[in-house]
Amino acid sequence: MNRDKLPKSPLRIRSLQVLLWRYFALLAILIVVAVALVCAGILSNAYSVQSRERITAVGTGLTMYIDGKTEHFKGLITGEMNESAFTDGVDVFLCAADGEPLIYTTEPGEDWESTFGELSAMADGWSPLRATVYRSESMLNYVSCVTFDFGQCYLLVRYPMYILTESVNSMQLYILIIAIVAIIVSFVIAYMLAQRISRPIRNLSDTATRMAKGDYSAQFASAEFEEIAMLSDSLNYARDEIKKSDDFQKELLANVSHDLRTPLTMIKAYASMVQEISGNDPQKRNKHLQVIIDEADRLTGLVNDILNASKVSAGLSELNKKVFNLTEFLYGIMNKFDYLQETSGYKFFIDIDPDMYTLADEEKIYQVLYNLISNAVNYTGADKCVYVSLKDCPEQGRIKFAVRDTGKGISEEEREHIWDRYYRSKDAHARPVKGTGLGLNIVKIILQAHNFDFGVQSEEGKGSTFYVDFPEVSSTPADSPV
Ligand code: ADP
Repeated sequence: MNRDKLPKSPLRIRSLQVLLWRYFALLAILIVVAVALVCAGILSNAYSVQSRERITAVGTGLTMYIDGKTEHFKGLITGEMNESAFTDGVDVFLCAADGEPLIYTTEPGEDWESTFGELSAMADGWSPLRATVYRSESMLNYVSCVTFDFGQCYLLVRYPMYILTESVNSMQLYILIIAIVAIIVSFVIAYMLAQRISRPIRNLSDTATRMAKGDYSAQFASAEFEEIAMLSDSLNYARDEIKKSDDFQKELLANVSHDLRTPLTMIKAYASMVQEISGNDPQKRNKHLQVIIDEADRLTGLVNDILNASKVSAGLSELNKKVFNLTEFLYGIMNKFDYLQETSGYKFFIDIDPDMYTLADEEKIYQVLYNLISNAVNYTGADKCVYVSLKDCPEQGRIKFAVRDTGKGISEEEREHIWDRYYRSKDAHARPVKGTGLGLNIVKIILQAHNFDFGVQSEEGKGSTFYVDFPEVSSTPADSPV
């Protein structure tokens, strides 16, 4: 789809997909790194706690075993110390108070002297119950004081830290590998997720571009996300409305140019006739001039209709409400239809109660009543009868207007649509009616703005009755609610 021709937004454009992908990926990295750090921390802490507990258990066991024994038990003690060294991976030393190693599981190294200095400083009094656990450079140490062969001795249990560090390091390496794999997987998932979210938006945009080029068959596809589905529904609705408006404009243009051409041709023809033929014959000239005047009136009426339609389509201007005599007002409108009675054989049956006042926008109510009565004239049956009534209902504080025709009526299904903008019945009526499908929509918008009750009752084959309920007010404006 070529988007180069589309107007560009002045804002810096960034791809939603890339943005989503970046944010999702960043979030995933943060989570994975945080989890990895927490795991590594907990792990190394758990290891060091565990090692302390283990060395304490080994040391306490040996202290209890050795304390109070004599040289006679040296063999047993050595065995016990070796077993601990083997099973728990520790080095055990029993040394005299002056530092001389008595029994040990590993040969004391050259640094024994400094080791002894350290342990004698750390030892906590000559009681086997008062042992100390401390960390020296690369060792975890347990030291206690025991009585061996009637002399005071030190018991030292050492656990090399490198074993602990190695275990922790290898576990941290596993965590690192898992974290890297998790980050890669989360990148892929984030990409797929970002694509899944942005794809329907891209589709909508492609469809909108097609529509902008005039393809109204373009269907905005619904998506699995509620918000996108709502958006595509709204766009489909907007497309239908734009299509209707477009069709209407085309049709209107065709109708209007046709309708304008006929009177203009007549005006030109009759003006030429006046100029060339009838100019000196007053009787003929007046007749021809009258045709010109009538055609000019037709033109004015046509232009007014178009202006009205576009005004109401663009939204209703403010209501200019005032109290007026509805009875007189309706008589005034009915007078406009008199010529039909004389020229086309229409019969109007009028039943209007005297002197009723209402509060409304007079100009707009004129449009409402005129449209409803015109429709009754246009769609009434072959008998050409139209019944107009305006009745006072004081108990309800209402004035009921109704206009009835004897036409073919409106089916229940159609009744739902007749108030829609541009709706025109597909059925052929008794007489060909040139309409725009705007009349009833204008009526609806005006009456809804007034908050008046209105509607239609119709029986197929018998005719339709359109009604409007006006509020009844007193004749003096001061008494009327505004
Ligand atoms: P128009 O009359 O210009 O087509 P309207 O908005 O006034 O447009 O009416 C919309 C449609 O409602 C008409 O096309 C017609 O089918 C139907 N309609 C309106 N008034 C009547 C009526 N009195 N009897 C039967 N059908 C009617």
